Amino acid sequence: MTARRKGRLFVLSGPSGAGKGTVRTKALEALSGVRFSVSCTTRPPREGERDGVDYRFLSDEAFRSLLDRGCFLEHADVHGYCYGTLKGDVERVLATGEDILLEIDVQGALQVRAALPECVLIFVMPPSLGELERRLRGRGTEEEERIALRLKNARWEMEHSGDYDYVIENDDAERASRELADIILSFRTKTIRGDRT
Ligand code: 5GP
Repeated sequence: MTARRKGRLFVLSGPSGAGKGTVRTKALEALSGVRFSVSCTTRPPREGERDGVDYRFLSDEAFRSLLDRGCFLEHADVHGYCYGTLKGDVERVLATGEDILLEIDVQGALQVRAALPECVLIFVMPPSLGELERRLRGRGTEEEERIALRLKNARWEMEHSGDYDYVIENDDAERASRELADIILSFRTKTIRGDRT
């Protein structure tokens, strides 16, 4: 009897404005059998964001209650708001044999690595800090103070890219998304060959 393939957990990080969202969306369009993990956050929704699709938008109290009940696989305070991945979401997907992709910050990624060492950590690197600043300002969604905070955190996150298994440079979103899809596919090939770790 052949054992059913267990899903694999991929973690995608990178500073705000590095283009993680675009790279992830394009890569997932090209792949089947990979689910995107919808995080919880206390940040208010941005225009166009949908509850339950982009994030689960929670009050501080609701987030705290989940935290107190030990429901998060990882959680972090990012740019002044709380973000977290529900353990149950990840376990349900992995049990079906599908892969799951988390798009979370470096603090969260390091917690996931500690809890589930077999996960694969992938970092999306912006071409430069100058380009990152241009992209953040171009969004037009953030106040000056928040942009400064995002740039400070970006520097810190980029310093941790060495803790990741892969670094993808996002100077071209098409190429970067192909690279991400190729990384995920390469792990499926390994599973077929019998590496089930
Ligand atoms: P944004 O508010 O711009 O959507 O996200 C801010 C940062 O929070 C991004 O780096 C994003 O990857 C990260 N983030 C989103 N969801 C989670 C999560 O569940 N856990 C952690 N640790 N970070 C998250």
